[in-house]
Order: sequence, then structure tokens, then C-alpha cells
Amino acid sequence: MNITPYIETKRIAVKVRSSAEKMVKRCHPWVFEESIIKQNITGEAGDLVIIYDHKKNTFLACGLYDPYSPIRIKLIQFGKTAQINKEWFATQISKAYDIRRPLLKTATNSYRLLFGENDSLPGFIADVYDHVLVIKLYSHIWLPYLNWIVSSLLAITKCTVVVLRLSRLLQSKGEIYGLKDGQVVYGVLEDEVVVFKEHGVLFSANVIKGHKTGYFLDHRHNRKRVGELAHNKTVLDVFSYAGGFSVHALKGGAKEVVSLDISKQALDMAKANATLNTHTGNHSIIVADAFEGLQTLINDQKKFDIIVIDPPSFAKRESEVYKAENSYMRLAALGAQLVKHNGILVLASCSSRVVAADFFKISEESILNTGKTFTIIEKTTHDIDHPITFPEGAYLKCGYYRLK
Ligand code: SAH
Repeated sequence: MNITPYIETKRIAVKVRSSAEKMVKRCHPWVFEESIIKQNITGEAGDLVIIYDHKKNTFLACGLYDPYSPIRIKLIQFGKTAQINKEWFATQISKAYDIRRPLLKTATNSYRLLFGENDSLPGFIADVYDHVLVIKLYSHIWLPYLNWIVSSLLAITKCTVVVLRLSRLLQSKGEIYGLKDGQVVYGVLEDEVVVFKEHGVLFSANVIKGHKTGYFLDHRHNRKRVGELAHNKTVLDVFSYAGGFSVHALKGGAKEVVSLDISKQALDMAKANATLNTHTGNHSIIVADAFEGLQTLINDQKKFDIIVIDPPSFAKRESEVYKAENSYMRLAALGAQLVKHNGILVLASCSSRVVAADFFKISEESILNTGKTFTIIEKTTHDIDHPITFPEGAYLKCGYYRLK
């Protein structure tokens, strides 16, 4: 494997403030720039950092140095020392694969094998779509280790193609050794649109140009659930993107499915994904801003048995939380007005800054304010290929409400 040239790394000894030390002892993977009180040499991207207890001078954790991020050290190994070598990465990848095994026993060949921090590789995402492995890097720290990691990923997944996706930060700062976003770094990609299976339903993703790695795998079990609920029903899928929920609903026997998104391109994918599967339901699209589109449907006195509202992250930074909460409130109210009596409203949020308890409280108050009552059918989080090992790792929450 020769994606990056040999990149030499150094070892750095670091001590951190006692507040940060407490977090390290709790295996929290982030050390911020301002927490560092002692560092023996200047660091470069991917240098190995060893954090010592500031009083006892004993080993606490080790991680990788990131000069381009306020999270200056990303921790990968806690409590006991280890050689961070090819075998160490192979072990982490094998542990990650074991967590996903139950999923791979279902009719599914698309999964997230590495979920960054939660699989001990901060800022490293690896998604599998059938035979194509899509890697998305959010940090330069991985470049010195990329060849090792990719060899292990290929060995375990049996993928034959590797596509590299790079975050905006990686593309704008620092040395990236000529790598490009969307570059095929291994094998031959016959078509940038890759077809894969999710609980027996066929989908396709553009692994070069699609959002993130091409598709959103995190909602898999929610889509399956909506599919199971959809038999003979009318369904509105708001913020549908490539039709994840829509296509499961159609496959599940929905009479009518409407996919709504602001992006015509996303809706074209939703249409194409629906036609990959046999179904008898009627599928239509609405290209509109969700808030406006929902209001128009209310004005037109439309009603649906099931409505799914799964918006993009509204709070990318702390200052946006208030506005995000307001948007969730408005969406829940709009949705509630469009659900038939005894119908189901499914509300999701992927903003990690809006915690689950707050999201559900806002949504529930908002439904009640429309004069409706509800029973809670279910509340869910990430599917098993998105394990959560630290608070900031949790972002997805989804509530199912039956409205009266
Ligand atoms: N529900 C999808 C994922 C949603 S991703 C799934 O299951 O895969 C978020 C989507 O919201 C994107 O497709 C984006 O085009 C769309 N979007 C963003 N802002 C929007 C707006 N104001 N109105 C409608 N759609 C919007």
C-alpha cells in the first residue's frame, strides 16, 4: 500500500492541566491546545504524544498531535502503554469489525466500520458500500499511518476499491502529499454511483460527490422501522436526501410516498433509488424549503399517515443552539398539523450540541402546542455501526410519536 510516502514522526512528551488530566483519566479522547502545560518539542501532524501524570510522571495516555485543530491532541490509547504500529491498528480495526458482525448477518452490505473517536481513531471514518471502501479524513494526523490502516481495512472488509474523501480543513491547510478529495487510491472504480443493500433494500450512493461518504448510514434501523410501519400507508419524508426513509417505506408497501428536499439533485437520487426496488406505491417529489413546503401542504389540507422529519445539523457551533432549537420546534409543529388522526410523526435530530433530552422536550411541547396529544412509540439513537464511547460522539436521536 503506497497512498502516502514515508512520513517520519516524532515522540512528544506532554503534561496537561489537572482539569484536562481528569478527562484523560476518564478516557475522553480530546486534549485542547490551552490544556497543554508542558511539551518537550514542537509537534507536527501525526507525531505521537505521550501524556504523563503531572505529579507522578506516570503514563496516562497516548495520542496524535494535530497542529491544525484546537483539539491539539487526539488520544488513541489509555491507561497502559502500547506500540502504535501496524499491529495496533489491525487490532483496533478487528475490534471495530466485531462490533458490526451482527449487522452483517442481515441483508446489509453497507456499514460504518470506523466511527472516528468511538473506534479509537479520532477523525477517521471508514464506510463500506458493497465492494467499495470510502474513507473520510477530518484530520492530518492520519497521513503518516494511512498505508497501514488501509491495508488492514482491505484485509478485513475484502473491498476491492478505496475512495478517499477529505474534509474541507484538510484541503485548505497543511501538507497532504498531493492527495485529492474523491481520489480513488486503490483498485478501479467502475462507476462513481455504487449500489448497495440496507436490510434488503437497494440503494445507490455517489461516493465521489455525495455528502460525507455518499450516504447516511446512521439511520439504518430507523429506516427499517419506518418500512415496517408503512404498509398501506401514505408517507411524507421531509429532508429526504437520497430517499433513505422513502425507499424503505415504498418497499414496505406504502401506498404513496412524497419525498421533500431543497435539493433537486438529492431528489433525483431518491427517485433513482426507488426504481432500484420493486414496489407498487406511488412516489412523488417536492423540491422546496422544508418550512415553506410543509406550510404549503398544510394550506392545501394534505394529511399523511406517517411523517418523517430528519433535518441536517442545525447547530454546527454552540452559538447556533438557540436557533436550532427554534427550528426543531417549528418543524414538530408543522409536522403535527399534517399527520392524520392516529398517524405517526417521526422526528430526528443529528445536532450533537442539542442533547437528546432537550430535543425530545422541545418536540413534545411543540406537538402539544398544536392542540394534539401523543403517545411515544419509541425513542432511538445510532445503529450499532455507530458505537458511542464519549458524550460528544452521540448526535443522533429519533422519536416516534402516535398523534391523537
Ligand atoms: N433523511 C436523509 C438524510 C437527510 S440529510 C436520509 O435518511 O438519508 C439533510 C438533507 O436536508 C439534505 O438532502 C439537504 O439537501 C436537505 N436540506 C437542507 N436544508 C433544507 C431545507 N431548508 N429544506 C429542505 N431540505 C433541506
